[in-house]
Amino acid sequence: MKIGDLPVNRLGFGAMRVLGSEDIWGPPKDPANAKKVLRRAYELGANFFDTAESYGPQTDELVIAEAMHPYPKDLVIGTKCGLVRPKPSRWDEDGRPEKLRSDLEGSLKRLKLDCLHLWQLHAPDPKVPFEDSVGVLAEAPPAWPDITWGCHPGEFAMMSMRTPTMTRLYLQCPPDDDAANWSDERIWSELHARLDLPGGTKLNEGRIVQKGVAAMRSYVAEPMRYGRLFLAGDAAHIVPPTGAKGLNSAMADVRVLARALAEHCKRGSDALIERYSETCLRRMWLVQRFSTWLCTTVHRFPDTDAFTRRLQLAELQYMAGTETGRRMFAENFTGLPVER
Ligand SMILES: Cc1cc2nc3c(=O)[nH]c(=O)nc-3n(C[C@H](O)[C@H](O)[C@H](O)COP(=O)(O)OP(=O)(O)OC[C@H]3O[C@@H](n4cnc5c(N)ncnc54)[C@H](O)[C@@H]3O)c2cc1C
Repeated sequence: MKIGDLPVNRLGFGAMRVLGSEDIWGPPKDPANAKKVLRRAYELGANFFDTAESYGPQTDELVIAEAMHPYPKDLVIGTKCGLVRPKPSRWDEDGRPEKLRSDLEGSLKRLKLDCLHLWQLHAPDPKVPFEDSVGVLAEAPPAWPDITWGCHPGEFAMMSMRTPTMTRLYLQCPPDDDAANWSDERIWSELHARLDLPGGTKLNEGRIVQKGVAAMRSYVAEPMRYGRLFLAGDAAHIVPPTGAKGLNSAMADVRVLARALAEHCKRGSDALIERYSETCLRRMWLVQRFSTWLCTTVHRFPDTDAFTRRLQLAELQYMAGTETGRRMFAENFTGLPVER
């Protein structure tokens, strides 16, 4: 079988077990024996070794290099990045670009390789977005009267209107992309490809007056209160821009808080204040549910396989093609009721 274009035998070797403890922590108890085990595994036909920066941490890669370097031509080593080990029981995700870069440089050095055969992200870091979007504000009249999601076979794009002469547009891009990589020509060409209706309405172009890479992230601070400090809007929660629910959610919090403060000042009652966080969070989690659902339904991620793509299209067909689907969408998109 093959990993990419590298042939490997069916049985590989999970090299973390040569380390000393159950927690995959620290150097091997018997380093000479650990190296013997690695060499023997290769002799028996396991020509794929699996390791990770976090095994040891780092010591597993060192033992592999000590045992096997200079490497046999057919040995493939796969290592992983993106975890931190503050203590033996912890495997915390850290997918920040600077951490991945230092993992990469460290793995190359420890394994004595110029190029890693296989490098994997150990686990996604929920704090770090997988995808971002290039957002632009353009002096161009909206081509369609409503917000428009472009579920193109490639990556996602979106048009939303600001005024009769201004549009805000989004293009899905990789998380480490830089707005400097997106010339105005490239932006319009990608937007046309992803949004224009074949043989139908085409996007209106105009002067781009603002350009930036916007992170797609989701966050909720619970509870939304600390003593006399009340969090509201973006300070308490962030939703991915796909559902356009940020402003609506901020207004909902403020409405609940305003009533609660008025009740406190006018009647001396703290009943609504005490319920503030709970009331807002109940609605907020429904907003998060909708925003996440819409975001993951219309975007194409690196691991979106053909089956998932069909499910995404089925979700969209249900949403647009059934009365219940349209109602569900409209209720969530225009804004769920604000409780007292
Ligand atoms: C590019 C972009 C496009 C967006 N498009 C949409 C959309 O189409 N639909 C939608 O619903 N949402 C959209 N959002 C999200 C929406 O703008 C926010 O969710 C919303 O503005 C949150 O309101 P807020 O009052 O909580 O925070 P903000 O609007 O950020 O207001 C916070 C204010 O506090 C001020 N401030 C910060 N620190 C201090 C300080 N120390 N002292 C005093 N003042 C301070 C800031 O200057 C700011 O004016 C968009 C966001 C961005 C960035």
